[in-house]
Amino acid sequence: MTDIDDIDTDTSASRGLYDRAREVIPGGVSSPVRAFNAVGGTPRFIRSAAGAWLTDADGNEYVDLICSWGPMLLGHAHPEVQAAVAEAVARGTSYGAPTIPEVELAEEIVARTPVDRVRFVSSGTEASMSAIRLARGVTGRDVVVKFAGCYHGHVDALLASAGSGLATFAVPGTPGVPASATELTLVLPYNDRAAVEAVFAEHGDRIACLVTEAAPGNMGVVPPEPGFNQFLAETCSRHGALFVSDEVMTGFRASKHGHWGLDGRSEGWAPDLTIFGKVMGGGFPAAAFGGRADVMSHLAPEGPVYQAGTLSGNPVATTAGLATLRLATDEVYDHLTSAGDTIKAAATEALTAAGVPHLVQSAGTMFSVFFTEGRDGAVRDFADASLTDATAYAAFFHAMLEAGVYLPPSAYEAWFLSSAHDERAVQTILDALPAAAAAAAQSQSRLQSSTKETPQ
Ligand SMILES: *Cc1c(COP(=O)(O)O)cnc(C)c1O
Repeated sequence: MTDIDDIDTDTSASRGLYDRAREVIPGGVSSPVRAFNAVGGTPRFIRSAAGAWLTDADGNEYVDLICSWGPMLLGHAHPEVQAAVAEAVARGTSYGAPTIPEVELAEEIVARTPVDRVRFVSSGTEASMSAIRLARGVTGRDVVVKFAGCYHGHVDALLASAGSGLATFAVPGTPGVPASATELTLVLPYNDRAAVEAVFAEHGDRIACLVTEAAPGNMGVVPPEPGFNQFLAETCSRHGALFVSDEVMTGFRASKHGHWGLDGRSEGWAPDLTIFGKVMGGGFPAAAFGGRADVMSHLAPEGPVYQAGTLSGNPVATTAGLATLRLATDEVYDHLTSAGDTIKAAATEALTAAGVPHLVQSAGTMFSVFFTEGRDGAVRDFADASLTDATAYAAFFHAMLEAGVYLPPSAYEAWFLSSAHDERAVQTILDALPAAAAAAAQSQSRLQSSTKETPQ
């Protein structure tokens, strides 16, 4: 795709940095989606951020709808989080010994979620990998069940695509993952109870765990159908497998108590293990996994399942996470809900007016806009999400960027808000939507006319 984003806005500094970066970093980025490959154009190199706003290397300002892909629940450079971090840094940045903030952050997580014990790690990927090892160690079984379209970090066993049919073992989703790493993974369509029942009927006594996003946000937001998570928890329990809920994205974001706060908490069930990351690190590399005391007691040094990390529970990172969670009050979640409602309504109105097929889906305070109507008016799984018109999204994305709104550079992501998204930030988004919707409509009509075979 061409640099359609670079027509009006000066992006020369970002372009220069992108050229330099590509000389020394593969693709010029430290994580693939940042490269804008799905939407084309030059990735913006960010110089600084404050509240709801990002400033790029050319001095352009954008309302941030990524929030570091979820973590920045309170917006960027929150003064109280900054102050706590500055004090922590002054006390030294890593000791390789237990610390006060990690105990306090663990207490805060235990108070908000169904877990009794947590172990800190440095990334969501590491948390998923460790939770699966623990589930295998506890059950003495090897097979892992996951859903297509759910992302749990770049864990070998979970970078898997469905095999040739239901209840067949998976194939690697990327070069570099050996077939042996995914041959114990089963991949099922999300929200499909019959598929879950079928694999448990066939392989139940070999399944160590089923891992799922508490509400998938990595194929766009696809909420579990009512009772689906409870059904998963009960099915696992009936077969002696562990139910592992990945709340890396939803935790402390979908609600104060994560997505579990929207279903398990009132329905009276809890996952055996929960995976956390993003918000709980307050913008630093921190993640965790936790669960029932009897399950977590299998972890070294209490139990035999080995797991460790030089920077795990790092005092600066856990201080940032603790400050963030302490400030994540009911008012914060109420604000995310009301700002989200305003943006969702405006996006629906603009896309409807422009005649662009779309669908807005939510899970608690999380939401995303699909550039498809799904099937039967909903996106329920990865196959539905794949109906998205990525070309229309790219046109929409660039029009929003040109108007000063930084959306995720991929059609399959949630739009993340923060408590710092005030009236001015929300208004900037509302003002940008109609022209962006028109740009999406135009890309669709261009595509239609270019595929028409009849001579004019
Ligand atoms: C982001 C994410 C991860 C991976 O976390 P990293 O810190 O990027 O390794 C795992 N699971 C879910 C649901 C995520 O959204």
